[in-house]
Amino acid sequence: MSERILVVEDEARVARLVGEILRAVGYEVMTVANGKAALDRLAIERPDLILLDLMLPGDLDGYEVCRRIREFSETPIIMLTARAQENDLLRGFEAGADDYLTKPFSAKELVARVKAVLRRSQRPEETSTATVRRPVPLTRPA
Ligand code: CA
Repeated sequence: MSERILVVEDEARVARLVGEILRAVGYEVMTVANGKAALDRLAIERPDLILLDLMLPGDLDGYEVCRRIREFSETPIIMLTARAQENDLLRGFEAGADDYLTKPFSAKELVARVKAVLRRSQRPEETSTATVRRPVPLTRPA
């Protein structure tokens, strides 16, 4: 079963590109364009990971969305930011983000970060029900 990623991004071009990149490597992708929709969707869909843009339209920016998500969910969050200043990154981590990507990012970097965060978040109890029981390989098959 493919892992599901919720993309929260108001820039249609970026959202589309991110969706194409992630679908191409086998993830299921849902996209929303503001913080309110992200919170609604998260409660219903239970994605495995959230890509959260920092600058969003409406009352909720990325930091606020992140804080609210952390009130009820441990779903890993990667923040997308156009700003590389240290303060922004620290605020993101304080709000509960697991990692960040600074725009513009390459497809390779996006996929690498998503894979790394998903790997870190995986816990045995979450993988045991839907999959056939087998030992987790220590190395990737060649
Ligand atoms: Ca934005």
